[in-house]
Amino acid sequence: MFSKILLDWYTENGRQLPWRNTENAYYIWLSEIILQQTRIEQGRSYYSHFVTEYPTILDLAKASEQQVLKSWQGLGYYSRARNLHAAARYVVEELGGRFPDTYEGILSLKGVGRYTAAAIASFAYKLPYPVIDGNVYRFIARMYGIDTPIGTDQAYREFEQLLSRLIDRERPDLFNQAIMDFGSLYCKPTGCDCYGCVFRQDCVAFNKGKVDLLPVKAKKTAVKDRYFYYVDIRWNDHLVLRKREAGDIWQGLYELPLVETDKPIAQRWLLGRMRKQLLSWVGEAPAQLEIGPEMVHQLTHRTIKAQFFRANYQEKPHLMDEKMRIVDMDELKTLPISRLIDRYLSKL
Ligand code: SF4
Repeated sequence: MFSKILLDWYTENGRQLPWRNTENAYYIWLSEIILQQTRIEQGRSYYSHFVTEYPTILDLAKASEQQVLKSWQGLGYYSRARNLHAAARYVVEELGGRFPDTYEGILSLKGVGRYTAAAIASFAYKLPYPVIDGNVYRFIARMYGIDTPIGTDQAYREFEQLLSRLIDRERPDLFNQAIMDFGSLYCKPTGCDCYGCVFRQDCVAFNKGKVDLLPVKAKKTAVKDRYFYYVDIRWNDHLVLRKREAGDIWQGLYELPLVETDKPIAQRWLLGRMRKQLLSWVGEAPAQLEIGPEMVHQLTHRTIKAQFFRANYQEKPHLMDEKMRIVDMDELKTLPISRLIDRYLSKL
């Protein structure tokens, strides 16, 4: 009955989304990776851009990582783009271009977790693997009165077992789309209309007055501050960039030369400290050094507190750090940069 009520609700109320009109596993995979940590409205334009720019997995595999990062610019969580690109190359080089068609095969792709593997397996191949995202957790925790803290392995196993019994084996694709839509559109975090709900008779949380208490959330990781001091080194219409390296946020993206500290630098030392730093990067003092804007950039577990400086040079700067390079405005447009740097440059 659960499945029937859900699918009836979905027929009337489900969302029309471009990636729901295809069984092409490559397109579904693209949409699922884009939608991780991204709102549907923002995801739509990136999805159509990727499908147009890279119509087949071969096109994606043939592109350079830099091109893919540029296409991804503005979406954040850039490891998704790097993994997408690496997985496309793996499928083309190791699997002869055939996208895997089993849950385990899909799960073995870089950047694909249990949720994404279940979504692709069910949407593209009609395999009965239930999807479990935040919306599904909320709806099912309330419906069945489950108070295991979500976001833990134990909760995942518990919800997966229950959903494997509930899933419609004939139409697992519709079931999964319906359950995500119901959680997202109807059984919302706050203010859901329980009196008008098609599940109200059997919903444990509604009948026990626990709607606001479920789901129970696991404790969050504390958010830490990072202090970034960026210097915008200019000469004519050129500026200096440096590529971020592996092992940290924004790997492979370009940014302005940076000093990072674990505590803020006192205001009175700022210019002196940057002047000294410039000598180690460029070897000579700038004609002019001034303090620019301050910006705060929020990531999931980090708050970046950025202070920008502008250093103007009259002669072409002689860079002493070989990882830095001088680029003009045309080249800048082709390079992938973080949203923080993009915000700064747009502000100028
Ligand atoms: S009755 Fe309320 S809490 Fe229960 S499933 Fe419906 S909307 Fe969610």
